[in-house]
Parts: sequence; structure tokens; C-alpha cells
Amino acid sequence: MEKVVIIRYAEIHLKGKNRGYFERVFAANMEKSLKGIRHEIRRRSGRYLVENFAEEDENKIVKKLSKVFGVHSLSVGLKVPSEMNEIFIAAREVSDKSGTFKVETHRADKKFYMNSPQISAEIGGRLLDDNKNLKVDVHNPDFVINIDVREDGSTLVFNKFIKCADGMPVGTAGRGLLLLSGGIDSPVAGHMIAKRGMKIDCLHFHSYPYTNMQARQKVMDLAKILSEYTCGIKVTVISVKHIQEEIHKNCNGAYMVTLLRRFMMRLAEMLAKKDGDQCIITGESLGQVASQTIEGMTSSNSVVESMPVLRPLCGFDKNEIIERSRDIGAYDVSIRPYEDCCTVFLPDYPIIKPKMADVLAEEAKLDVQGLLDEAFATAEVTEF
Ligand code: ATP
Ligand code: MG
Repeated sequence: MEKVVIIRYAEIHLKGKNRGYFERVFAANMEKSLKGIRHEIRRRSGRYLVENFAEEDENKIVKKLSKVFGVHSLSVGLKVPSEMNEIFIAAREVSDKSGTFKVETHRADKKFYMNSPQISAEIGGRLLDDNKNLKVDVHNPDFVINIDVREDGSTLVFNKFIKCADGMPVGTAGRGLLLLSGGIDSPVAGHMIAKRGMKIDCLHFHSYPYTNMQARQKVMDLAKILSEYTCGIKVTVISVKHIQEEIHKNCNGAYMVTLLRRFMMRLAEMLAKKDGDQCIITGESLGQVASQTIEGMTSSNSVVESMPVLRPLCGFDKNEIIERSRDIGAYDVSIRPYEDCCTVFLPDYPIIKPKMADVLAEEAKLDVQGLLDEAFATAEVTEF
């Protein structure tokens, strides 16, 4: 009797002709997530099986695989030779100790001497004889004992289904640059796009020493959380301190955020081009704060020339975003109270609906290209 993890995959099976490619990326991503843990992953008729792992690594394996995009659900089960007594012992092992149950059998091995209903009835009967605290309920059972009689002479027996990340394997839908702040929204935005199969790089702007090192650490911690879903992540950090000082010194203060946003977008496009990212991703949500009006987005969007800016949260309410943030395990880090560079030199009354002509007039007071080059040179890279 051997412990195994059974992996069912999500949308990949839809991808007709490209299926082989999707499955190769998927398998490689699972291997990456289990790096350093002894195991073997094998593909078995529409499933993957993780075998040959140490008992004490079971929880770690389940936790890591549940975050790999493409995994629909997991079960920890037992693999036994296809023989009724062995199957019964395994069923007893995975069974809850009390409650109502039913047995569901899937028989791929059509040469096995009993058919599926016969196997279910026999194992169900033996479980009832063995444990008086169990009762059969075929319509609404507390738990289901699943028996999978396979063609290779082995049978898998399992009880629980663990819901996983779903989505498409990361790396099958291009590469994008996520503007990662320390807030609640941007990690969720990155997670959503990675879930569609995009490989994610991150860019964070800081304003040290106006913002402190804890703020930077917070962003690194968020990137690390994201990296568990994205099979690793690269974070570039750029200082916008001097840009902010120059805006503060030369421009109408009400345009601080509007102008800074345009610098951020230009720097993002510069980095994206250098690193091979095909789009920019932000955590903006329409109307959430003063700078996230359609006019604000028009102003920041218009400096990006060669790629789309994806805003997956645009139509989400804050409470929906918070729920997702909790789901992906980022919320507790996101609410740590450190300042973002956007709050440095923040005016009392920021322009909410900036007119392009006014924005351009304010920006004309600055050496835009000089400031961009200078900021870009401060880039530092960390990889998780
Ligand atoms: P978040 O919760 O992601 O911080 P927010 O509600 O605070 O978002 P803003 O501060 O207006 O909203 O930022 C909007 C988006 O701009 C962020 O989601 C992020 O993608 C990007 N952004 C803001 N500040 C930074 C920063 N310091 N570094 C990188 N990207 C940033
Ligand atoms: Mg923010």
C-alpha cells in the first residue's frame, strides 16, 4: 500500500492541437514547484500521479501543487494492487470513522473480474460490517470512497477532493510586467493574469528615504507569495525619489499623482521592452481612488506606446478584491501599514479629472527624458 497524490487538471484538456505543449509546460511547472522534495510525477490516462515521496512531505506537496495553475483538484490516496482484499484495506484506511457514505468505482481495467457496481457494493458491505458507526446514503453522503481500478493492475482509493488553483499553466500565455505596490490590489491583479497562463515579472517604485525599508520588504514578501503561483518571479525596484522631488519643486502640486503615474508607466514600458514583457498590468479599479478615474487612466495610458495595459480589477468592488486577496494569502501582508511612494508629497486636493492639455503643460516644466534615464539606472533586481 503506497501513498500517492492524484492530480486532476483543469482547462488544459480543452486545447485540442496544442495539448502536448500545454501539458509539457504544466508538468514542468509542477516539477518546479516540488523542487527539492523527493518525488516522482507520472502521467496516467488524463491524470498525474505523484509517487515515491516521504510521508512527512505529504502536506508540503499538497500545499505547493494546489497553487500550480492548471491543477483543478487533488486527492491524497492509496495505491494498491487490484485485488479485492487490498482494495478493502485501503478503503478502510481512507474512510471517515463515522457518518454516511457511498462507494463510487471507476473501472478502466475492463478485464477485472467484477464490474463497477459490484465492486462498490462489495466494498461498501465490507466497510459496514467492519464499522458500526458507518451508514450508507447514496443520495446525500457525508463522504465518498472513490475506487479507481486502473489498467496497469493497480487501484487508487481516495476520499477527499482538495480544490486547487485552476486556470492555465503559467508560461503558455506570454509574459507581462506587473506594477506591484504594497497594497491589496496589485498582487490580486497579478494573480488573475498569471492564472490565465501569463508569466509575470514585477516592477516596484520606491522613494527611499521618504519611504522606508519595511515598505520595500513588504513588497518583496508579496512577490514571494505570488511566486508560489507563478513558478518563480523577478522583481525590479526603481527609485522615483528624484522624479517626485522635481515634480514637487516645479509643478502644480495637484498634479503630483497624475504626473508621477505617467513617469511610472514610461519606466514600466522601458523595462518591459528590455525584459521581453508584452504588456503592463496594474491593480487599478475604476473610481476606487482619485487617480483611478477614466481621465486619470487616459492620462497615464497615453504615454505607453507599444503594448497594452491590462487592468483586470477595473470592474471589481473593493470587497471583492479583498476576498481574493485573502484567498491567495496576500491580505495579511498587504495591510501592513507602511507608506507607498504615491503618498509622498501627496497634495490635499489632487486633480481628479485631469485635462490632457493641463497635464502636458505641467509636464513640460520637467526634463522628462533626463529624469527617466536617471531613474531607470537605479533599477535593482531580486529573484524568487
Ligand atoms: P494597490 O492596492 O495595488 O496599491 P491602490 O488602490 O493603492 O492599489 P494606487 O495607489 O492608485 O491604488 O495604484 C494603482 C496601481 O498602480 C497599483 O495597483 C499598482 O499596479 C500601481 N502602483 C501604485 N504604486 C506603485 C508602486 N509604488 N510601485 C509599483 N506600482 C505601483
Ligand atoms: Mg497603493
